[in-house]
Amino acid sequence: MSTRDQIETIYQQVRARNAGEPEFHQAVTEVFDSLRVVVDRSPGYADGGLIERLCEPERQIIFRVPWMDDAGAVHVNRGFRVQYNSALGPYKGGLRFHSSVNLGIVKFLGFEQIFKNALTGLPIGGGKGGSDFDPKGRSEAEVMRFCQSFMTELHRHIGEYTDVPAGDIGVGGREIGYLFGQYKRLTNSYESGVLTGKGTSWGGSQVRREATGYGVAYFVADMLETLGTSLDGKTVVVSGSGNVAIYAIEKVHQLGGTVIACSDSSGYIVDPNGIDLELLKDIKEVRRERISAYCETVDGASFIENGSIWDVPCQVAMPSATQNELDADAAKVLVSNGVKVVAEGANMPTTPEAVQIFRDASVAFAPGKAANAGGVATSALEMQQNASRDSWSFEYTDERLAAIMHGIHHRTIATAEEYGKPGDYVHGANIAGFIKVADAMIALGIV
Ligand code: NDP
Repeated sequence: MSTRDQIETIYQQVRARNAGEPEFHQAVTEVFDSLRVVVDRSPGYADGGLIERLCEPERQIIFRVPWMDDAGAVHVNRGFRVQYNSALGPYKGGLRFHSSVNLGIVKFLGFEQIFKNALTGLPIGGGKGGSDFDPKGRSEAEVMRFCQSFMTELHRHIGEYTDVPAGDIGVGGREIGYLFGQYKRLTNSYESGVLTGKGTSWGGSQVRREATGYGVAYFVADMLETLGTSLDGKTVVVSGSGNVAIYAIEKVHQLGGTVIACSDSSGYIVDPNGIDLELLKDIKEVRRERISAYCETVDGASFIENGSIWDVPCQVAMPSATQNELDADAAKVLVSNGVKVVAEGANMPTTPEAVQIFRDASVAFAPGKAANAGGVATSALEMQQNASRDSWSFEYTDERLAAIMHGIHHRTIATAEEYGKPGDYVHGANIAGFIKVADAMIALGIV
């Protein structure tokens, strides 16, 4: 059987063994599309069941999370932790609390995480977790009780040298605090390195909160430089208004671009004068309100409830909300409005059909596993500070983040070129990440 046929057979097996998990199939398809050229050149990568092992998580934990709401009613949610691959280091990846979370979504995120973490060049494996619990609309006390119940099971499976979770959708500094508090109580140990995204006064790193968004903006700046231009004066649209989106907007503004639209799950806002970031932070981080509240304060801003944020003309688009939020129709509109660069702040927000439209139109497109790797990279810097009982300044940590993002950009572009796909960030990121983790897996034997 040719190596290409071998890959197709493995893909069919993965689909059959993981039925009903479309997002996971999508993530695997995208990586496999890039692997054909690698195994053509180095058939050894298809030996020893390496690709089959890469697709199968090392461990999958599913658990019951019972908790009581303020009215005394008991709720039962489901908790997940998929410890995907530890060839490069302890499992590392966020926890997502959102009603849409299921095993397939956690697996797609964990699978992506392996390659993303490898691309950072730091010693971290890939994992992901979460629950179908949604903190939105819940009181502080309810969120705390849920987090405590979640950690009561999860604590058995994590550790500084085993698995180090962080935040993702629905899990920010508040949730990490409650999770860490419960871990500390259960284990009677102040093991700072067991979670990242902690507050800076209790073991967290400067810039971790900002890191994913800042990192995407640094990556976009590098993409534009490759095209002979810069963010200065560019009109930018960022979807979402959570952790990633807010700090992507902040850094884009610092680098001279203007973000004119952002969103949440209720709709999107357009402010032609540029998003007022302090107001947005107040609405989302302090008051935890809906995005429409922005227009109650800002003259000239509008809220669109039913519609696509990608209808707003821009030169740079940064989808930073959730998976598959930018489809083929949206991609066509962006292209016809003259978009030059699309960079994923979220994980897999762009459908495969939309990616193809960007390729055909020669729009520079960066996948999340490269563009949003700044968050996990800074988590690894947090682990480094925890291990050495040190704490770095904001400026120094930001410099480290910027250097890591430049490194990822360079590796991605150089690998794409080397494998005959110049300018293709998707192939570059998949191939560079795969080779790093595959070489480690070969060295470690069949485990
Ligand atoms: P947050 O929970 O802070 O924010 C998520 C944002 O996306 C909110 O504005 C939310 O709106 C919106 N959103 C979420 N789900 C949907 C949906 N189904 N439809 C429409 N809008 C939605 O999450 P983050 O900013 O942390 O994460 C955003 C993305 O970035 C995710 O894909 C995540 O995996 C990825 N990512 C995050 C990293 C991190 O460090 N936090 C690191 C790397 C990637 P609403 O409040 O209305 O739900």
